[in-house]
Amino acid sequence: MREDIKEILVTEEMLGERIRAMGTEISRDYQGKDICLIGILKGAFIFLGDLAREISIPTAFDFMAVSSYGAATRSSGVVRILKDLEESIQGKHVLIVEDIVDTGLTLSYLYDNLKNRNPASLKVCTLLDKPSRRKVPVQLDYRGFEIPDAFVVGYGLDY
Ligand code: 5GP
Repeated sequence: MREDIKEILVTEEMLGERIRAMGTEISRDYQGKDICLIGILKGAFIFLGDLAREISIPTAFDFMAVSSYGAATRSSGVVRILKDLEESIQGKHVLIVEDIVDTGLTLSYLYDNLKNRNPASLKVCTLLDKPSRRKVPVQLDYRGFEIPDAFVVGYGLDY
């Protein structure tokens, strides 16, 4: 382990097991529907890939990239869209796939932004949740792990 990494919060085995369960749950909840997974770049790309492989219903993908952190590695509250969706989500069942929800500012902005595009439904799936840092309330429909207030890296999350 690198010397600047203090501890392992979530092991590979824990990830695999939890993501399998989330995929099963999502497949069951969206039975009979097509689902559009929207991966939030860059942090969520590995999670999205692993999650998608555990979902057994027809799935489409699109991506958004937003800027969240400045040099200070703290949420600024200012969200800027760096890359927008390629397809319209109007009338579609949309699931936002995030790596981690911290203050909730990024997700809150994204949720409202996507809601305004009139999807048939809009839900949120995050791998990690740091509820102790929340500044705005957000609804998390699928959540992998609740973690303490620590800056986490690995599995595609920015370092
Ligand atoms: P929020 O707007 O909820 O404060 O922050 C959300 C975004 O900040 C996440 O999508 C993620 O990109 C980044 N982020 C928040 N906490 C962490 C962390 O502990 N590690 C890393 N690598 N990124 C984080």
